[in-house]
Amino acid sequence: MKKRIVVSLMLIVALSLTACGTGKSSANKDVLNQVSLLQGLTFGDYNGSVTAATLKEKGDIGIGTFDALNGELIMLDGVIYRAAYDGSVQKVADSETIPFANVTFFEEDSKMSLNNIASVEALKEQLNGKVKEIGDNRFYMVKIEGTFNKMQVRSELPQTQPYKPLAKVLETDQTVFNYDNIKGTIVGLYCPNYMDKLNAKGWHFHFISDDKTKGGHILELAFDSANASIDRTDEFAMILPDNDMFNNFDLSVDQSSDIKKVETGEEK
Ligand SMILES: [Zn+2]
Repeated sequence: MKKRIVVSLMLIVALSLTACGTGKSSANKDVLNQVSLLQGLTFGDYNGSVTAATLKEKGDIGIGTFDALNGELIMLDGVIYRAAYDGSVQKVADSETIPFANVTFFEEDSKMSLNNIASVEALKEQLNGKVKEIGDNRFYMVKIEGTFNKMQVRSELPQTQPYKPLAKVLETDQTVFNYDNIKGTIVGLYCPNYMDKLNAKGWHFHFISDDKTKGGHILELAFDSANASIDRTDEFAMILPDNDMFNNFDLSVDQSSDIKKVETGEEK
């Protein structure tokens, strides 16, 4: 009897080991993990709920922000960086907390070359062409490495309680930096149209320079050519914060115009 149990256990272990080795979905690397809702952040919930250490267990690439809105988060090759309000970039401690982020484990599924990109809109257009072809109802994380003729990024001053809505914060506390001929990586997230109640539909880009000294949320850019590496992600998981602010939001309120404003700096 005992022997039979041992044998069955061994069989289970062997089967799970095989399952782990058969592909990325079984290794659960194809999950886009999201901390909170963009709509919570937009309302002003800048209370960090997940530590940097936990976020690193959920992905090695991604974008987001930090507790108290203390800068823009860029995760690249498993390292979490802060592009701070003063234009500097730091690696963050594992104990730092994050109120909003999207991360996944990067595995290239397709690639494309991007040419003669004169604006962030042109970049979206070229990427959308590819996404249409491979399925625009899925999630994609994109990594674009190159030299950028023009790179305009923003960060923001850390906030104090009581927190104001994000669109209000950005009216006064946004800092913008312009760089020319800068080498670096764009980390981009694509969310399908049906995600507009949980995040923003379409593209969201952050940037970090190769020397890890400059970065932020991309407002505008231009480049001649670069290669984009695309990770298709078919699963989505959310980690909701547990704080009074989040628990009491009326999330039925439409925030699409505020979201457009905070994403792009445009009014509509
Ligand atoms: Zn951003």
